[in-house]
Amino acid sequence: MSFDTLGLSAELLRAISEQGYNEPTPVQRKAIPVVLDGKDVLAGAQTGTGKTAGFTLPLLQRLNDSPTGKGRRPVRALVLTPTRELAAQVGDSVKTYGRHLPLRSAVIFGGVKINPQIEKLRRGVDILVATPGRLLDHVSQRTVDLSQVEILVLDEADRMLDMGFIHDIRKVMALLPDKHARQTLLFSATFSNEIKQLANRLLNSPELIEVARRNTTAERIEQRIHPVDKLRKRELLSHMIGSGNWRQVLVFTRTKHGANRLAQQLEKDGLSASAIHGNKSQGARTRALAGFKSGNVRVLVATDIAARGLDIDQLPHVVNYELPNVPEDYVHRIGRTGRAGNEGEAISLVCVDEHKLLRDIERLLKRELPKVVLEGYEPDPSIRAEPIQNGRNNGGGKGRSQPRKRSGGGNGGGGGRNRGRSSGNRSAA
Ligand code: AMP
Repeated sequence: MSFDTLGLSAELLRAISEQGYNEPTPVQRKAIPVVLDGKDVLAGAQTGTGKTAGFTLPLLQRLNDSPTGKGRRPVRALVLTPTRELAAQVGDSVKTYGRHLPLRSAVIFGGVKINPQIEKLRRGVDILVATPGRLLDHVSQRTVDLSQVEILVLDEADRMLDMGFIHDIRKVMALLPDKHARQTLLFSATFSNEIKQLANRLLNSPELIEVARRNTTAERIEQRIHPVDKLRKRELLSHMIGSGNWRQVLVFTRTKHGANRLAQQLEKDGLSASAIHGNKSQGARTRALAGFKSGNVRVLVATDIAARGLDIDQLPHVVNYELPNVPEDYVHRIGRTGRAGNEGEAISLVCVDEHKLLRDIERLLKRELPKVVLEGYEPDPSIRAEPIQNGRNNGGGKGRSQPRKRSGGGNGGGGGRNRGRSSGNRSAA
């Protein structure tokens, strides 16, 4: 199937072919005609499915088909995103796909000067891509008027709620035309009850579009768990990157501090690495991402918030250095690879403290993930608290009854080197 059959204009088809896209992805096939029809959409689609073009292309076409009169341009389409990076990426897509159309767009997010944004808004924009906090700053300074918004897009709505943006979203909604007087598109990777409630409030008889099964991970991503002692994770990571000759790997840590520390340690191991997280200035985040995309930085170490929505073409490897506390975040994290039809690999380094988190993830995915113990990195059974999965992956299934080498020291404290046969298949790295 080609893009020609979806009802898009010649200008948009030209931009699409300049991007080198041959055929629409499933979410594009489903969303584009519905959005062109003016209907509301509730879409379950993860990053990597091509959802950005799925809403941007028809949005551009609708605005272009009904131009406003002369005078200053009102904001006619508003796209809300949870993070700065995602806002910048959506903004880039709007520019790319709309390059042959006479529409203007702007991206506004926090962490950078507000004055250039004010100046841009003053000159008039048709499409505004924004994070909620900075948008409300503009509202309070009366530098933006949202009363003429015709199309609203909430991108990665689940993450917006996770990040505590619900109050900001409510405030923004109060400034927009009523839901019957605008078109609303809501995209979310997962559908929690809160998302359903939000959808009920904001959408008007939406078409439901689902491209991947609910709460499942993209099928092209090969997922694997490497059980390993906590204190040997860094060594194993460096070893995998080096021996596998990985050129580009995104690594997730749980904390900002942990991200910084790991990036520094990897540098010491001779691997070029940068950290990206919420405490970094916008300039530092942009530089880290640019270095990673261009290939100068081999390892990007990120926290969940910073990584949300990162669009890196053909990213082959994602590593969970630590499992996320919230199982849904696992889905988001590994969705950074295997995008738009490429194959990807998602590896999680799991120590004994994290077995409960792993079980939560497997419950969400409704399947067990394969466990592979790497030669030389077998977890020390003396510091194992319990079997990984129903005792099956734990050679002998006697984990809990193993005497501990150390008492009272907690898990993962690097007990004795009394290595025994450990779990799962064996394979060399
Ligand atoms: P998204 O899910 O919107 O973040 O898009 C994921 C990636 O897929 C981006 O790098 C897009 O440039 C790319 N992409 C989007 N649509 C297509 C398509 N029809 N064919 C090939 N690549 C695409």
